Formats: sequence, C-alpha cells, structure tokens
Amino acid sequence: MRATVARSIRIESIRSPCSQVGCLRLRPRLNDRYDMNHQSSTRWRNVFLDRDGVINENRVDHVKTWAEFHWLPGALEGLRLLTEHGFRIFIVTNQAAVNRGLITRSDLAEIHQRMITVAAAHGATIAGLRFCPHRPDEACGCRKPQPGMLLDLAREHQVDLAAAYMIGDAPSDIAAGQAAGCRTILVLSGRTPLDHPGVQEHPPTHIAANLLDAARWLCARAACVPFPAEQQKRDSYTLDHPAPVYSK
Ligand SMILES: [Zn+2]
Repeated sequence: MRATVARSIRIESIRSPCSQVGCLRLRPRLNDRYDMNHQSSTRWRNVFLDRDGVINENRVDHVKTWAEFHWLPGALEGLRLLTEHGFRIFIVTNQAAVNRGLITRSDLAEIHQRMITVAAAHGATIAGLRFCPHRPDEACGCRKPQPGMLLDLAREHQVDLAAAYMIGDAPSDIAAGQAAGCRTILVLSGRTPLDHPGVQEHPPTHIAANLLDAARWLCARAACVPFPAEQQKRDSYTLDHPAPVYSK
C-alpha cells in the first residue's frame, strides 16, 4: 500500500507538468514574454508553416494529386503538438504550378481539404491557409520571399507578427518570415542543406531537423505562455499523453 502511494507520487512528479520530451509547459520563465490578462494570447502564439518540405515531401514535378502528397515523418505529430500547446497554425505555400497550368485551383483545394482533414483526425487544427498561384515572372507580392501571404493572414486573424514564427525549408521561407517581422525556423527536412549559401544570407532564429523537432523547441520556448481560458477547457494534453517511461 505504502509502495503504491510512493509510486503514484513519483509518477505524478514525473508527469507534471507535461511528459512530452522537450516540453516545459507550465514552467514559467520570468524573462520570457507573459500575457498578464490572458485575453489576447492567441494574438501572439502563432506559427506560419511552409507546406512542401515541411509538412509533406517536396516533389521536383510538384504535388499535383492527393496520391502525390506524402506526409513527412513526424509532421502530423508536430502539428498536433503545436495545436495542443495553443498555437494557431497557418500554412503559406508557393504553388506556381497553378499558373503554369500543371494543377487546377479545385484540385489544389482538394489536396488542402484532405490535408486539413487528416491533420484534424490526428488532433491538429489548421487555422488558415494561403497559396500563391503566381509564377516568379509575375512578380506578385505574395510569392515568398515576399511576405504578402503572412501579412494577409495576420490582418485577418489579428496575429502579432513580431511574436510569431515562420517555419520553412527554404531560404525564401526564412526571408518571407523576416520581411513580415517574424522569428524563423529553418527545417532540414526539405530542399535546403545546412551549407546552402541562402542560410548565411537569411540566418534563421533556429534550425531544426524537421517539423516535430521545431515544434518541440517552440513549445518549450512558449512554456511560459498561459492558455486562454477556453482553450484550457478543451485541453486534453495530459490525458492524451502516453504514460511516461521510467525505470524502477
Ligand atoms: Zn503570388
């Protein structure tokens, strides 16, 4: 009996506040930003994600059908982790294949609808998505490295850009994030090797192996940020987590 109690206390101490590796949620760091009234938390816990090379595998010949959409390892878990930590996830993707005539807008919309549906089934919410259909020669304001898509989403969803992150696999993603005034994370799961000259030109705030790695880093940094009350009610983080592994 006494052993059982001791064991449960020990489990609680291991589980609390969060058993996710790398997660420091609910361990405030005083030097981090802290929203005292909790009301506007969603304004500044936001992350913009590139799609190809971050969420799904890059294809040289473009992702034109759902059959060609292949999730990258850890991507769904990364999306879920961000959602569970109260991040609003926005996807911003260059899709010049549209204006090159390689994919129709409705086919692209179907791919995105399926992606969002599968993500939802894995506990992840995509709060918004923008794609740029233009070719580079059209010199639009939305094709990354231009920040148009981020600025557009930020206006619509009241995103505090200075506190938001842009996660991408290309220097153009990092440049777009920086042009929008965001902090940035380069992931190495796409088309940019670490020694790419663009990495020096547009040095990111952080470099991660993939989206899951980036999400863990981001969630650890955001540990001080309290959830909005409504989000806390829906939060099933500790319930959903598998029991921690511990030695006897
Ligand atoms: Zn565009």
